[in-house]
Amino acid sequence: MHSGEHRAGAEEGRDGIFYPISTPIYASTTFSHPNIETTDRVLGGEEQGYSYARYDNPTVRAFEEALISLEAPEAEAEAGVRAFAFASGMAATHAALAAAELTGGATVLAAEQLYGSTATLLVQVFGASGVEARFVDAYDLGAVEKKVAELGPRAVVVESISNPLLRVADIPEISKITRAAGAALIVDNTFGTPYLQRPLELGADIVIHSATKYLSGHGDLTAGAVAAGPPYAAAVEQLRKLVGGVLGPFEAWLAHRGLKTLPLRMGRQCENAREIASSLASHPRVAKVYHPSLKAYPDHATAGRVLSDTGGLVSFELAAEGRKAAYAFLDALELCVKAPSLGDIYTLAIHPATSSHRELSASRRERLGVRENLVRLSVGIEHAGDVISDLEQALERI
Ligand code: PLP
Repeated sequence: MHSGEHRAGAEEGRDGIFYPISTPIYASTTFSHPNIETTDRVLGGEEQGYSYARYDNPTVRAFEEALISLEAPEAEAEAGVRAFAFASGMAATHAALAAAELTGGATVLAAEQLYGSTATLLVQVFGASGVEARFVDAYDLGAVEKKVAELGPRAVVVESISNPLLRVADIPEISKITRAAGAALIVDNTFGTPYLQRPLELGADIVIHSATKYLSGHGDLTAGAVAAGPPYAAAVEQLRKLVGGVLGPFEAWLAHRGLKTLPLRMGRQCENAREIASSLASHPRVAKVYHPSLKAYPDHATAGRVLSDTGGLVSFELAAEGRKAAYAFLDALELCVKAPSLGDIYTLAIHPATSSHRELSASRRERLGVRENLVRLSVGIEHAGDVISDLEQALERI
């Protein structure tokens, strides 16, 4: 029953010396050591090592190290800046918020344009334990400054690029406000990825990712990550141990494999998105295009300062009004995939009013600019010309 397993005391070097070029999937619940003293030191944190998979796993650690080398390449190892993988973006978000000490009596100030589940998490889950969640237009620096001064929040939560109108947050300026007020700045960098922006280098305290999206990039897993330095890193690690939302080794391996091609994918997606945005902007059946590359875009200048490129998402309003037109357009697509996610190698198309923003009232959607004729594209790595032809034929059929 024990044969074949590599264990301490087993025959050494039976297969010769070899090094796997890809970190193996360590599908093991526990890790044994040559002697029990070592186990004691590893469990006590006096020696680096692995003991129990809810605490740490070599495949998961490989993904985390790859991610932190992208999110904080300048950070010294001894500075304690680390990434922690989670079973989903929401598990990562929960840990980041809890690590910022959002407990009874604290106030959290969040962007109005926040991902719906994050806003609901703040109101329902943190709200139930006495945290007050307040919201602000995160793209109006004056409003952020005023609310921070008025509320004295323990944490401020924003997204580097918002959904679905792709507003670009001025992280360096927001971080000046939060630093002066002693609030933790938490940035969800799911839409940006370290390819476009490294919020920790711009003054953020904690970075969150839904690694389900661009980081893994192939639409085949659910994962999340938090990147932070002291004092938040230790709190995130402890919360992950205790709450247990860990990433499995197979998903960690897939996420790590995806991450290896992040710059290739993002480079192509940004290039394609620019071409698609420009082609849609001159199409008679399109009323308005939202993309940071376009001069008419409100955050064009901010994007130039805080992002290294203009991103892979493009949103647009059809010239025809109403949900019916948007549905007719989406149903006419042949190459683009209708699916409520983003960051995949395929171009994905969604109707934000009935997907990411369906829980909001019609009036709140209208106030946020999420109109019924709005479509969001997460541009893939196909030939841009193929995607443009598909969009054009679908526009003809509305
Ligand atoms: N943050 C953002 C910006 C998202 O778009 C999402 C999911 O769409 C999440 C967090 C949650 O991630 P997950 O679905 O991996 O839990």
